[in-house]
Amino acid sequence: MPMYEYRCEGCGEGFEIVQPMNARSEDTVCPHCQAKKAVRLLSAFASKIVGDHKPGFGEMKAYDMLHERMDKFGKLPPIIGKRKPPTPPPSSDSDSGGDKPS
Ligand SMILES: [Zn+2]
Repeated sequence: MPMYEYRCEGCGEGFEIVQPMNARSEDTVCPHCQAKKAVRLLSAFASKIVGDHKPGFGEMKAYDMLHERMDKFGKLPPIIGKRKPPTPPPSSDSDSGGDKPS
């Protein structure tokens, strides 16, 4: 059964409920105030989880958008001032004393 997202016009609370396809929003009782004033919201995300697990067009598009966002994030320049200067290896100045017989 698909999951539907509702918003109650009585108390303004939103809630999700699993109900049959032919359920009407007029019959949906708000779990917060028990009023039958729920308005069904379009929730493609919720129905995708409950429904068949086939990657649909919407899901593919979501992945594309995610990758696009990642690409943009990757192209951002490094934040100046937050990068640590490279620390020199501590063993490099051990032979600069000059008191070694050579
Ligand atoms: Zn309510």
